Amino acid sequence: MTTLRQPLLAIADSRRVRRLITSAPISTGIVADYVPGETTEVAVRAAEGLVHDGLRVTINALGEDTTDPARVRATVATYHELLAELTTHGLARQTELAVKLSAIGLGLDGTHRPSEAALAEAMANAHAIAGAARQAGTMITLDMEKHTYLEHTLQVLRQVRQDFPETGVALLAYLYRTEADCRSLSFDGSRVRLCKGAYAESEDVAFQSRPGIDRAYVRCLKVLMAGKGYPMVATHDPRMIHIASALASGFGRSTGSYEFQMLYGIRPDEQRRLARRGETVRVYIPYGDQWYGYLMRRFAERPQNLSFVVKSLISKK
Ligand SMILES: Cc1cc2nc3c(=O)[nH]c(=O)nc-3n(C[C@H](O)[C@H](O)[C@H](O)COP(=O)(O)OP(=O)(O)OC[C@H]3O[C@@H](n4cnc5c(N)ncnc54)[C@H](O)[C@@H]3O)c2cc1C
Repeated sequence: MTTLRQPLLAIADSRRVRRLITSAPISTGIVADYVPGETTEVAVRAAEGLVHDGLRVTINALGEDTTDPARVRATVATYHELLAELTTHGLARQTELAVKLSAIGLGLDGTHRPSEAALAEAMANAHAIAGAARQAGTMITLDMEKHTYLEHTLQVLRQVRQDFPETGVALLAYLYRTEADCRSLSFDGSRVRLCKGAYAESEDVAFQSRPGIDRAYVRCLKVLMAGKGYPMVATHDPRMIHIASALASGFGRSTGSYEFQMLYGIRPDEQRRLARRGETVRVYIPYGDQWYGYLMRRFAERPQNLSFVVKSLISKK
């Protein structure tokens, strides 16, 4: 994590900056590096190519902090459409779904502190998507968002797992509490995607320095690899990948009892290299027109791309 990360994420929250960037012509090219397109057809085609290369896939219908009920319904419908397309193309078994609860109800209040009604809406929608995924022969993983959604996300996980125990969740190593959450979720059948964490969080709840976050990531990895669950190691960091491999063999895990995950467009050669080595590697494909928040988090992680943001702003002046 860089020292520029928090300020960049803060700037990205500005409505004006959002308007300028999403309407800048320059956006189209750079978005395509991280998001294959806006339609289900394009996402399925991208998945097909990756599966052809020996990779697995998780697909996210972009959207977050959705306050419009019609848009929530549209996102749920998109997941159903996606599952139908994956089935038609024979891709459902290699492709799971990544779901952000704030896109399917948890964000309805617009406060980042969901009411009981918002929680109930997210729960019902997650349950329906998990059910449709099961029918198609696949499963879902709940993305993890801002820490104010964390308890609600775990609540939804527990409830959905009662009927669909294959449902997984992402945990974010930068939060102080995550090592303990990893322990609680290290049981047989539990699927945990471990990420460093992508949001701007304060020092009240999260490690701030890169070494601090990396050390926390390794502690969490140890807990998950030593446990009985299925760890999903979501990172592009060569050091973390190396350590995860060493821990997996140290704890006597065979390939297939854990997996690596990376984002679409990031380190594609490494994705293929790991797969050739016999590792299970899953690529996270986000798609849709609501790419702004996702893209800004990627830029905050890699300020080398900052010139794009600056050019977008200048070109609109
Ligand atoms: C599959 C997946 C799912 C995710 N789900 C969530 C989620 O649900 N919630 C959430 O908050 N976050 C999520 N994230 C994002 C995650 O939290 C991190 O913000 C993001 O992965 C960057 O951290 P990193 O571990 O890759 O390492 P960083 O610390 O960002 O980078 C470490 C090293 O990795 C390499 N690297 C990183 N990025 C690049 C790049 N673009 N090109 C080339 N090399 C690079 C470089 O060597 C770099 O020095 C997810 C990430 C992945 C991979």
